[in-house]
Amino acid sequence: MGSKVYIDGKLVAREDAKISVFDHGLLYGDGVFEGIRSYGGLIFKLSEHLDRLFESAQTIMLKVPMSKKELEKATVETLKANGLKDAYIRLIITRGVGDLGLDPRKCKKASIIIIADKIALYPKKFYEKGLDLITVPTRRNLSEAINPQVKSLNYLNNIMAKMEAINSGYEEALMLSSEGYVLECTGDNIFIYTGGRLYTPPFCLGVLKGITRGAVIEISQKLKIPVSEHVMTRHELYNAEEAFLTGTAAEIIPVVKIDGRVIGDGKPGKVTLKLLSQFRKLTKTDGVKY
Ligand code: PMP
Repeated sequence: MGSKVYIDGKLVAREDAKISVFDHGLLYGDGVFEGIRSYGGLIFKLSEHLDRLFESAQTIMLKVPMSKKELEKATVETLKANGLKDAYIRLIITRGVGDLGLDPRKCKKASIIIIADKIALYPKKFYEKGLDLITVPTRRNLSEAINPQVKSLNYLNNIMAKMEAINSGYEEALMLSSEGYVLECTGDNIFIYTGGRLYTPPFCLGVLKGITRGAVIEISQKLKIPVSEHVMTRHELYNAEEAFLTGTAAEIIPVVKIDGRVIGDGKPGKVTLKLLSQFRKLTKTDGVKY
């Protein structure tokens, strides 16, 4: 069975999964998306992802031509058609086909695309040895411009940051706000652990409201580890006992060095590893079955 992609109500072969060059998703990055995972036939935090998708769409005034329930059904249908139990799911809503002008009124109907693929796991060494981050010059988009809470099809801000990290010989970039506060990495949220408490930047400062970030907060509360959403500078990061990133694809990745400063003892932290094992447990039990 070849793999199938869902486009506007139809499951088409991967080779035939094509959209118009006049789609404003391509022309202007006008659209929203979600990256979701399924684990052993359970779609993790699907309703949270659908809520965030609809919130992103609402902010950019994009009408999703389906209800959440219908989108859930289409996602399950796509997973089944691909015979995948452990998958990475990309849900995309584009503004649809218009002409070469920006005006979104030219696009009569939004398009829905669902791709279900094998998950490309991060190299094991990242989890065993931890990541080495570098702060990059490109600042995260201003909330007053394109709010980072909108998961839009325009990721150039993050791509610029990623390029700068790669150009300097690093895998991942730490992004700051225009005022120099710590925000997030190019596709992951950041946490630190210090003095028995977890800290993560508040999303109102201009970070994506990560679903994995939410799950980590939920797990920490169960483990009785207090969590604060806190405005931080790099100074607090450099002096943390532990640091880690969270994201759908990455899950929880330890960070052991930031801008040349060793974090803690330079090894993945105990609390980080405990959270990762609890997180992996949660993915085995929590989700929409298909
Ligand atoms: N920040 C950014 C900029 C992201 O793109 C993502 C998702 N890849 C995240 C954080 C993590 O969010 P989630 O846990 O919902 O995947």
